[in-house]
Amino acid sequence: MSVLEIRAERQLVGFKLEHFVLGTTVFAACALATTSKSPLLLSFFWLPNALMLGLIVRFPVMAQPQGWVLAAWGYVLGSYLGELWLPKVLLLTLANMGGVAVGWLYLRGRASQVVNMRSPVGVFHVLVGVGMASVVGAALGAWMVQYLMERSWQRTAVMWFGAEMMHMMLIVPLLLNFPQPHGLRRLFRIAEQPWVTSVLPLATLVILLGIAFSIGGPGAQLLVLPGLILCALSYRVFTVSLLCCLIGAWHVSQLVWTGFDFSYQNAAAAMSMRLGLAMLSVTMLTVACARNHWRDAMAQLEHLSTHDHLTGMLNRAAFVENAQRALARLAHARMPVALLMLDLDWFKRVNDTYGHAAGDAVLKAVSTAVVQALRPHELLGRMGGEEFALLLQDTDRQEACATAERLCAAVRALALKQEDGCMLYPTISIGVVALDRTPGNYPLGNLLKLADMALYAAKDNGRNGYSLSAA
Ligand code: GH3
Ligand code: MG
Ligand code: MG
Repeated sequence: MSVLEIRAERQLVGFKLEHFVLGTTVFAACALATTSKSPLLLSFFWLPNALMLGLIVRFPVMAQPQGWVLAAWGYVLGSYLGELWLPKVLLLTLANMGGVAVGWLYLRGRASQVVNMRSPVGVFHVLVGVGMASVVGAALGAWMVQYLMERSWQRTAVMWFGAEMMHMMLIVPLLLNFPQPHGLRRLFRIAEQPWVTSVLPLATLVILLGIAFSIGGPGAQLLVLPGLILCALSYRVFTVSLLCCLIGAWHVSQLVWTGFDFSYQNAAAAMSMRLGLAMLSVTMLTVACARNHWRDAMAQLEHLSTHDHLTGMLNRAAFVENAQRALARLAHARMPVALLMLDLDWFKRVNDTYGHAAGDAVLKAVSTAVVQALRPHELLGRMGGEEFALLLQDTDRQEACATAERLCAAVRALALKQEDGCMLYPTISIGVVALDRTPGNYPLGNLLKLADMALYAAKDNGRNGYSLSAA
């Protein structure tokens, strides 16, 4: 037996907790569904397929062969509780798992787009995957029901397809977007958000639901539309899919209340209702994802407009804006401030000897060394060319000089191998200006000028060190 075969065999035997979670979930969902059986209805709600598809796409470890084996047991045992005819249980399990397998085969390669969806493309893929799963499940299921119970293939297929689309479009996105533990905590920190985006959309939806419920009539379903759109524009995708589930449950329970016939004899109308709910979920998710997509694009744009592409530091404009704000804060708190101006030594020679690309690599290496020698979130920006500015808040002269020395040492420690095999040892010079107390309305330009003069002094003193402004 080869090593690969031994490994495969061990994997097959090794059941993990995740496989049992999948098997148990499928079993519980099947057992629950058997309680809603009637002579003219296989079951009123059939959640195991949607749950299984969502789980195995979200947690690929569950999709290992052991997961499928335990899920099959879950289907058979759970269904057997309500249906003691084993051939029927086995054939319907085959139809159920066939549909899930097709949906999984489509979605598993698109996990990066459908798990924690950020773009409408993810919603599209879920719709396609769920559609394929529903078509295959319905076709197989209807064929088996026709064979076992001599019922119309078309009607069963229509019923099965509608139910599967609804259940899967409501539940699969819920599982795919279920927040990680840290995200879950954020979900409950609603109080930190402005009330317009946290409470108002939900309140609007609840009020509209109340109005729709009390006046009823054919327009009632459309009445809640503004509330739904507002929620989709304000909440994260998980919350939106949760709302879709609740709205779906509310809608179905209203239909039950008014005596709607969900049975096999009313197959077309039942499918229409269920497809409507599936499409409601698609619409809401698309709106939520389109908003996420737009937000991501805006964040990317803002990052590009405030950061230098080569070093990743703040660019000059963003540094100046942040530094001016910091100065105002420090002046208000009567705190000390220091500004360091850093400049690479003999950098032109690097470009002249090794070329501009090598110069860029040196610039990158030096800026990384500087960033790593500082505390995170220190105010550092590329002022242009090979010059950087660092604003040290609540930092006295001594500390500022120690920081300057530390930065010089960090760059001095670099040894960069060039294409010709030669080593390059870059150095920097730093001009330091430090004020014991930040004066009110102190112009940043003054600090920059003083630091620049100190930088010239450091260059005159032989470079590879710092000089303190006399100011
Ligand atoms: P000094 O020690 O006096 O600072 O000498 P220097 O050669 O570093 O200073 P100088 O101001 O004469 O040259 C700076 C050079 O930096 C000139 C320019 O070609 C180069 N430079 C500016 N920006 C970039 C960049 O983004 N990439 C590369 N590769 N070079 C740059
Ligand atoms: Mg220079
Ligand atoms: Mg320079």
